[in-house]
Amino acid sequence: MSIKPVELDRAGSIAALLELLCGRHSFLVTSHERPDGDAIGSALGLMHLLEAMGKQVTVAFADPIPAPFHCLAGVERIVSALPPSSPDAVILLECDRLERSGFKCPDFKVMNAAMTINIDHHLSGRDFADFNWIDPEACAVGLMVYDLAVASAVTISPQMAGCLYAAVLTDTGSFTFASTNAATFGCAEHLLECGADANAIAQSIYFSNPPGKVRLLGIALSNMQIEGAVCWSWITLEEMARAGATVEDCEGVVNYLIGIAGVKAAVLLRQTPAQQEFRLSLRSKGEIDVAAIAHHFGGGGHRNASGCTLEGSQAEVTERVLAQLQAACCEPLAARPVLPPTLLA
Ligand code: 5GP
Repeated sequence: MSIKPVELDRAGSIAALLELLCGRHSFLVTSHERPDGDAIGSALGLMHLLEAMGKQVTVAFADPIPAPFHCLAGVERIVSALPPSSPDAVILLECDRLERSGFKCPDFKVMNAAMTINIDHHLSGRDFADFNWIDPEACAVGLMVYDLAVASAVTISPQMAGCLYAAVLTDTGSFTFASTNAATFGCAEHLLECGADANAIAQSIYFSNPPGKVRLLGIALSNMQIEGAVCWSWITLEEMARAGATVEDCEGVVNYLIGIAGVKAAVLLRQTPAQQEFRLSLRSKGEIDVAAIAHHFGGGGHRNASGCTLEGSQAEVTERVLAQLQAACCEPLAARPVLPPTLLA
């Protein structure tokens, strides 16, 4: 069975998905590698919803759950490997293909699930599963799971509410991104009424940073370069080690770059343990489409927030992405002595 998103409107997708869920018993829920707040919050929120419907649920993530999200109810039940059992359905959240989960395709095959369900809100979303519900208008997949919960008529528990609130809070940049609208606030208000503890969640996510993260931010901001409307910075493995920081601590750094007046597009390059490889976090304002740029490089995301991985030296990767960003901002390409000589290797 393959149901394309264009065949169903939003209400139709929700009704069809609920019917699929009601008719099945066991589920595996997963989301993308290097999980963020929406991935974790929506997966746990969906777990609580399915359990309230009397279903059996396993939640698996290929990568560790960052400490700020350890406050979410049910986080201790997340497993790091796909179970060998055959669930009635695998539900992938925020993924444009099976591999985006960080698990390997053959591992999914071994599980032998009866069907796959894809729930996504990325512009770059693809209908790769048996059932696909992709809504690029939704501010977070957490909001889509919330809509599903409301339509299911299940009572939203404080635990489910907290997980979904964290998903919506983080994927709207604390209710600041362009995707934030009246529906976002309506959802947040209802989740607080259902028992989500907004203050405890904010304390855990925004006010519990390890010192290494703040030190790393200082290094990244001192590396920062601006040319016209494009801003960029980088974090090398050596800088991460010097700050006593982890990969997770790079999260959010790029938002400082796009937060500068006059900057329309920004990118943070993070060196990976492969050395000659960089993870790129792209951000933009308004109509500038960084999802298209990430897609060009094999990644994906939203118009104003996207990511991808590029191989090459730092100088090469920087040149390639800046050419794209400057073209997107209609900036002339400048000859640039952008990197310290030590990094121009
Ligand atoms: P971040 O820069 O915070 O890692 O990612 C920004 C957005 O782009 C998130 O919505 C994230 O899911 C998406 N994204 C980041 N990297 C990739 C990637 O490699 N592939 C796809 N499809 N989406 C990505």
